[in-house]
Amino acid sequence: AEQIQNGIIYGDQNFFVPPHLNFGAFVLEKILEHNDRVALINGETEEQITYPKMVQKIVNIASSLTDLGVEIGDVVAIASENRLEYFVSSIAVYCCGGISTFFNNAYTKNELTHAIDISKPKFMFVSGEVFKRHSETLRSINFIKKIVLYDDIESSGNDCIRYRELSERYVDINTYKPIDYKGKNGTCMILYTSGTTGLAKGAKITHLNLIVACQQPHFGSSLSRELTSLFIAPWSSTMGQICGLQDIVHGIRTVFLTKYEERLYIKTIEKYKVGYLTMPPPLVVMLCKSSIVNEYDISSVEILFVGGAPTNPKTITQLKTRYPHIKHLLQAYGATEATGSVCREMEVAPKEGSVGPIVPGIIIKVVDPETNKVLGVGEPGEVRMSGPAVFDGYIGKDKKDDFDEAGFYKTGDIAYYDKDGYFYIVDRIKEIIKYKAWQVPPSELEGILLQHPAVKEAGVTGTPDLLAGELPTAFVVKQQGAIVTEKEIVDYISDKVAPWKRLRGGVIFVDEVPKTPSGKILRRKLKALLQSVQKIP
Ligand code: AMP
Repeated sequence: AEQIQNGIIYGDQNFFVPPHLNFGAFVLEKILEHNDRVALINGETEEQITYPKMVQKIVNIASSLTDLGVEIGDVVAIASENRLEYFVSSIAVYCCGGISTFFNNAYTKNELTHAIDISKPKFMFVSGEVFKRHSETLRSINFIKKIVLYDDIESSGNDCIRYRELSERYVDINTYKPIDYKGKNGTCMILYTSGTTGLAKGAKITHLNLIVACQQPHFGSSLSRELTSLFIAPWSSTMGQICGLQDIVHGIRTVFLTKYEERLYIKTIEKYKVGYLTMPPPLVVMLCKSSIVNEYDISSVEILFVGGAPTNPKTITQLKTRYPHIKHLLQAYGATEATGSVCREMEVAPKEGSVGPIVPGIIIKVVDPETNKVLGVGEPGEVRMSGPAVFDGYIGKDKKDDFDEAGFYKTGDIAYYDKDGYFYIVDRIKEIIKYKAWQVPPSELEGILLQHPAVKEAGVTGTPDLLAGELPTAFVVKQQGAIVTEKEIVDYISDKVAPWKRLRGGVIFVDEVPKTPSGKILRRKLKALLQSVQKIP
């Protein structure tokens, strides 16, 4: 259980750590305990896969990948919408010692090349949809040796191979042996995040991180019965990827969708009698307001697991009033750097406004970010974390930039804890904007804005919004004599970024962007400026 010592809060640190230290092997062992249950269902197409089938596919793909030349430390990327092959592919990669990384299927060419440049995949699993949009880009990158196509689409050249060819073989699961690891720090997965500042970086998630994160208690199975889980988060995102793996390790029946559409989502809950929903805060708002819900029976829902961004307390009240049958709305405070959750409410004793107590595998101290003094009960300060679930730093970046001397990662979040060790998030001092729990790095948008010929200076911040959390909003100083409209700039950005990064908060033309003498944007001042121009409703 958790403990507080000298102002440091320890989540439970008792884990089973297998000697082979291979997360892929760990998952395989877990799946074998799930008997013949259904693992994953595509809620739209009704395609499904059982746990035993999944194991068979994983060892087939793993053996094929080894034959193709995937070796320890090789990066294998998946660029696809959610689909049945997704986790089979990534778990197979771990089994043969490779590192998985995931590219969102909505990435633009620039976003894709940026991510590829960070992780340098040698092999890629690509869906038909993504291949159609990006085949030229992918094929122009010389370190990508093979592209495994999930769909049977037209493709010429021997750099492509079909997934079917890799999976249609028979490997005996009793004799198949995943690779053993020696050290504890083997990277297993690369996730993209801006962290506290700058452009997207590759967070190194180790085998140990995942082994620990996947042993954290799970709502769907901590109850006496099994609940079917539904989520729409893309598996390329941290929340989607980690919650998806946790569902698999805990033997949950998980329904997934490849895209969000209100009616489809609600219909899917009814159809599969879903009991457990994992969602970002805007979906809670949707459930509160939706009229479509009245046409369906969603009385099976017992638990909402909400995280990635703060949930408005009013929304929680509305939800409970409208759906008295929902037993719990449980919040989580998570971060890519924590391999998922940092704090999490559980069914036992949730507290209003809190994101719950620390999760197993995490160690937290709350400090005054100016003086580094460790703070106590009720004193808000920066959350700093370490422990076996905390990541191993960013690719190509010195750990000193993001961790303090004691090895704690500096989250850039301000929170306090109460006498029971429950945490309350009060502010974010890092620059990242969160639109519907998606990360929007201001510096990325500023960089693109500066490429526009009419833009002299640019500063991006978030306008508070009840539904989305924050709307990316740009302050722009025009070049002398330049004529440009707000719409032109909004459209310019929309063409170059994934949908969640669009300037939905609009563009505000100003005479100057507040900066330090050295030219660093004063982000706190940007927020103040926003308030003064009354863009806030
Ligand atoms: P990501 O790495 O995309 O999961 O983003 C992590 C960041 O999202 C955290 O450092 C917080 O700033 C924010 N965040 C996540 N969950 C919550 C929450 N429940 N309440 C407030 N902020 C949150």
